[in-house]
Amino acid sequence: MEHVGVEDVNRVIQPAAVMRPLTESVGTTDLAINYYELELGDSFAYAYHVHEIQEDLFYVQSGTVTFETEAGSVLVAAGEVIRFPPGKYRRGTNEGDERVIALALGAPLEYGDQEKLRECDTCGERTPQRIESAAGGEARITVCDDCGTETGRWTL
Ligand SMILES: [Zn+2]
Repeated sequence: MEHVGVEDVNRVIQPAAVMRPLTESVGTTDLAINYYELELGDSFAYAYHVHEIQEDLFYVQSGTVTFETEAGSVLVAAGEVIRFPPGKYRRGTNEGDERVIALALGAPLEYGDQEKLRECDTCGERTPQRIESAAGGEARITVCDDCGTETGRWTL
């Protein structure tokens, strides 16, 4: 048995006000578990993206999340869950006026290939991008694969 307080798990850099990865703390072997708090404009992910292998489920405890999906925009309110199978693009963002608290579950642990798409001002369109460490590990950035422009930067 593993028993931890969510508040005791260290935050990591994500495009979210708070993200605490619980997977290692509880020692799950086939399930990824991440705790999120999103302020206005924050997101669960750096980009509109797809997982080759991992399926995802989001439980929204408070606030409302707007998911961009292949089927259009989907609002997920407090008390609701949404599931994405592997192979489907998605990105959840807080576009509401209330802080979002949510839990993300993914299985199995590995993502497989994970194409990430973000708007690149230099290219003038949404392009494939990668995530890199920057500022000696103090920041994470997204970089356009097509032209090398930095399109986003986040710190704790
Ligand atoms: Zn570009």
